[in-house]
This record gives sequence, C-alpha cells and structure tokens, in this order.
Amino acid sequence: MTDQFQLTEDQLAIQEMARRFTADRITPFAANWDEEGHYPVDVWKAAGEVGFGAIYVSPESGGTGLGRLEAALIMEAMAYGCAATSAYVSIHNMAAWMIDRFGSAELKARFLPSLVSMERIASYCLTEPGSGSDAAALRTTARRAGGNGDRYVLNGTKQFISGAGYNDLYLVMARSGAEGPKGISCFVVEKGMKGLSFGAPERKLGWNASPTAQVILEDVEVPVENRLGAEGDGFKFAMAGLDGGRINIGACSLGGAQRCLDEAITYVKERSQFGQPIAAFQNTQFTLADMATDLEAARALLYLAAVKVTANAPDKSRFSAMAKKLASDSGSEIVDKALQMFGGYGYLRDYPVERFWRDLRVHRILEGTNEVMRMIIGRDLLK
Ligand SMILES: Cc1cc2nc3c(=O)[nH]c(=O)nc-3n(C[C@H](O)[C@H](O)[C@H](O)COP(=O)(O)OP(=O)(O)OC[C@H]3O[C@@H](n4cnc5c(N)ncnc54)[C@H](O)[C@@H]3O)c2cc1C
Repeated sequence: MTDQFQLTEDQLAIQEMARRFTADRITPFAANWDEEGHYPVDVWKAAGEVGFGAIYVSPESGGTGLGRLEAALIMEAMAYGCAATSAYVSIHNMAAWMIDRFGSAELKARFLPSLVSMERIASYCLTEPGSGSDAAALRTTARRAGGNGDRYVLNGTKQFISGAGYNDLYLVMARSGAEGPKGISCFVVEKGMKGLSFGAPERKLGWNASPTAQVILEDVEVPVENRLGAEGDGFKFAMAGLDGGRINIGACSLGGAQRCLDEAITYVKERSQFGQPIAAFQNTQFTLADMATDLEAARALLYLAAVKVTANAPDKSRFSAMAKKLASDSGSEIVDKALQMFGGYGYLRDYPVERFWRDLRVHRILEGTNEVMRMIIGRDLLK
C-alpha cells in the first residue's frame, strides 16, 4: 500500500486483472461446477498463464514473486465467482511456495516449472483420521530404507485431502523420527508411485467444485531427494505454509461475502412487499449496514495480516490467525444475512447465495478450526 490505507496502482491493477479473469472464466460456470461436482482443472492452465499458480513463488524459480496482500486480492476476486475454486488455487500456491522456500535446487528444478504453469497441481497432506487440530500427533510413518538409506518408505492415511486423486503431487507430512512436531518431515509424493491410492470422494455440504478424499500410502517408496529440507523440519514448513494459507482462506470468505452483499443490494431494490421495495424497510437498511461494516472491518485486518506475513513480522502467525477467524466468521454471518433477505428465494439454487452459504461454512473449519485460531492467538498473547 502507498500509505496505510490505500492500495497501490500495481495492486489495483492486479485486483482488476483477477476480477476480469473471474468474470470470464469462473463466475458463469460456478453454479454448474457445484451442481455437477466438477473440479475445474480446465481453468487451472488459464490461471497458470496469468501467474496465479505461483503468486508468491520467487521470480528466480519462475514464480510471479508478489506479496501476500496481492495474493489475498487475487483470492478475494476469484472467490467472488466461486469460493471453492479460489480456495483450491490457494492450496496449490501454498504447496508451490513450500517447495520454493524450503526445497533443494534439484527439487525446485524438477517440480516448480510445471507447478507455476499449473500443468501439474499439488495437494497439501497434513490431516489424518486420528489427528486434525492436533496435527503434530500424526501417525503416517516415513522409514529410511535402501542399502545406503537412499529412500523412505511411507505408510499411513491422510484424511480430507483437497484434490486427492486428481492432482499430480502430494506434499505429505510424515513421521521420520520421534513423537511430536520435531519428528515430522515433508515429502513430495508423485501420483503414480507404487502404493499410493485414494479413498472414495467425500460427499460434502459445499466445496463441491473441490474434490476431497483420503490419500492412502502403503509402502510407498520415496527417494531421499523428494524430502523437503532437513529431516525433522516438516512440521515447521507445514505451519509456515499455513500462515499464508489462512490469509487466503480468509480472503476467500471476503470475496464470497462481498458477492452476497452485492446480490442482496440488487435484490432488495427489485423485490416489493407491502406495496414498497423491501429496501425501504429500516431493518433491511440496518442489516445491509451491519454487513458492509463487518466486511470492511474483516478486510482491513486481513490486509494488515497479509502485509505482516510478507514482511515476516514476529507477530505474523497471530495476525494471520486473527484475520482468518474474523473473515471466516464474519463472512458466514454476512452470507447468512443475505440469504435471509432473499426470503424463500435465498434457499433456492436459482440464486447464488445458498451456494456461498454452503461453501463459506467450511472456512471456519479447515486450515485450522476457528477454535484453534483462538488457541494460537491466546498463546501468543500470553507467551
Ligand atoms: C472440505 C475440507 C477440505 C480439507 N482439505 C484439507 C487439505 O487439503 N489438507 C489437509 O491436510 N487437511 C484438509 N482438511 C482438514 C481440516 O484442516 C481439518 O478438518 C481441521 O483441521 C479440523 O480437524 P478435524 O476435522 O479432525 O476436527 P477435530 O480436530 O477433531 O476437532 C473437532 C472439534 O473440536 C475442536 N477442538 C479440537 N481441539 C481443541 C482444543 N484444544 N480446544 C478447543 N477446541 C478444540 C475443534 O475446533 C472442532 O470444533 C480439509 C477439511 C475439509 C472439511
């Protein structure tokens, strides 16, 4: 930002470009993707061409090299069309950034070009059936093997993995050492590796444009070169990825909420009851005022948190958690108020509000539940 409260010319241009991309490639198709459970891989290549596959991957690695605020602007703009699609682009960006930030030169050269162009898509695999919020308790094992220890053998099950079965690369957090976070390493597992399989697609309330399934690892042999950074650093990398991921998920809530606010403003002017447009009722005006106020407050905190993550500020994790919590809680409330304003029509699939209502709900659960966000914030305040 040029000063504290104004986006720069460049940021406005990026935002405008993302809005145009959304209007052309996402908004007209989103309802159908939701209805059909279609994962829009066809859109990924176009997103890669405009640099959305590697927004904060460094230019040396072929990435777009932007900051986290610019990423948030892009995610927010794309979520205006489809929150689930935008959120998936966020997960891919998180994985690509982790490889760029922590991977060896050889690993970057092997994987980043196709991730940047989105010819290959990546998943992030932390959660397990027995470990969600307590992610460091994960039980997937990575046992060193081979005559000279040149590979690991991975065994375990990852739960709720976005893009599972469709995507090409899986960043898997697995236990290579002792209990606790320091015994965890991160590996790039490639689709087609022997022993890698996927569960049945989960049947979900929303996010139907983003498939979710288990990733099952049965004696999957992964070369040592596919390990990200040092042994035992995997959990640290996974958490570093989530600081930015949480900003992006919050931004997806902002975009969805803005869309529903705009839809509601249009609708209340058109719909009449008791001989006047429902926009004339004070309750409608007060509700719109609350929605807009809450949205701007969440946006201001989220943009600030994004700048802190870019600057690697010491309080970045707390701000990222605060921003994700506020944006996803407020986003859900705003969409719910919009749905109420549509009356019975809000409950129908003829209007987009019910889709956003379903899609935004999960932002309060994933990338750390909002209770976990409060744990992070509380711990940081009391440290
Ligand atoms: C659609 C979808 C997509 C997802 N995509 C991915 C993905 O791509 N990769 C990935 O790794 N994961 C993914 N997840 C998993 C997601 O991150 C987890 O669901 C989330 O972290 C919560 O874990 P859990 O579901 O096991 O809930 P639990 O951890 O069992 O939590 C249950 C409840 O207990 C609360 N709780 C737990 N511990 C505490 C505590 N100490 N204090 C207070 N309350 C607590 C929680 O807040 C929650 O309300 C996805 C989930 C969904 C639904």
